[in-house]
Amino acid sequence: MSHSPYSWLSNSLETLHRANWYRSPQTLEGLPGAIASLSGQPVLNFASNNYLGLAGDRRLIEAAKEALEQYGTGSTGSRLTSGHRSLHRELERSIAQLKQTEDALVFSSGYLANLGAIAALMGPRDLILSDEYNHSSLKNGAILSKATVITYGHNNVQELTEKLREYRSQYRRSLIISDSIFSMDGDLCRLPQLLEVAQTYDSMLLIDEAHATGVFGSTGAGLVQHFQLHKPELIQVGTLSKAIGSLGGYVAGSALLIDYLRNRAPSWIYTTGLSPADTAAAQTAIAIIQTEPQHREQLWQNINDFQALLTRHCPQIVPIASESPIISLPLETPQQALDLSAYLKTQGIFAPAIRPPTVPTSRIRISLMATHQREHLESLVDGIKHYLDRMSGQ
Ligand SMILES: *Cc1c(COP(=O)(O)O)cnc(C)c1O
Repeated sequence: MSHSPYSWLSNSLETLHRANWYRSPQTLEGLPGAIASLSGQPVLNFASNNYLGLAGDRRLIEAAKEALEQYGTGSTGSRLTSGHRSLHRELERSIAQLKQTEDALVFSSGYLANLGAIAALMGPRDLILSDEYNHSSLKNGAILSKATVITYGHNNVQELTEKLREYRSQYRRSLIISDSIFSMDGDLCRLPQLLEVAQTYDSMLLIDEAHATGVFGSTGAGLVQHFQLHKPELIQVGTLSKAIGSLGGYVAGSALLIDYLRNRAPSWIYTTGLSPADTAAAQTAIAIIQTEPQHREQLWQNINDFQALLTRHCPQIVPIASESPIISLPLETPQQALDLSAYLKTQGIFAPAIRPPTVPTSRIRISLMATHQREHLESLVDGIKHYLDRMSGQ
């Protein structure tokens, strides 16, 4: 038996298989919408972050095509060398205008925006307080920064306060980081309280609006707008890849912050500028989000309708939270989550099982979109009901 330094890879994968944690991608075809084609089978799509349906909108497609014709496929360099186009600056101005901030900076993804911002702002002498359910990009940004990281219980503002009271004075700078809508549970962070605690303990606050932008607030600016809590110094991160329907990420905040990040954020400085097509599509989406509230209104109508249907027909299953388009239905074991997802698929419904290690508890995670029809929601609830009835019959 010859030993290879790579043999641990198959052992490690074997462990994932045994725990039912193994994952692989599924192929969807065609334009993104409420109905998708999954391995050739048409399915109702409850797995997409395309909350407003904009990723398949003709206007975004046309804007991307025009940018392709005018600027070509690639940005060809980092923004500080040869990769900066007027399109990038226009998009940054639009984001700042949507977010009501002085300025904004566009990154190549939301993940890179978090890595870059946190690593640039914090160092080994600093303290980061992080919600235990934060997105991977926030957690890895904190690790990359080499600051001391204290994780507090999910949405536990009291624990956050106690940690700051105990440890704040031992560190130079302090930063609280949190999703605004938590990506796996779909619940809201306690933004008013976070702002208050941050102020009391001389701490900066970074909020990741990835799932809230386009969905919350009177013009779709996100949770900050929903709570009407515009603080000029608040650091707002987000993505262009969810409700905005394109690709890329951003940081929005004070002009000082943005100027600093342009000079200090490694994941912005040392990576190629966002492609012209993605940039133009995002720019068009932001205009649509601000001028066409009907998409957001329809999304919220669907959220309310789905909740009412679920409560009426499946009272035995209570969502982890139901305050956003992300609605997670808890199940006892990874196998049950897989079984329900597989059953729904036989019914022509795509709703993925999310299991450890991604989340602590197994669930079916449902993402609602403005483009879902009433009968799509009814089919989903029907499917869940049939599965639950079958289970309890056993
Ligand atoms: C999706 C997501 C990101 C990453 O954004 P991408 O643009 O897809 O890299 C960051 N934070 C949160 C909370 C997210 O849900």
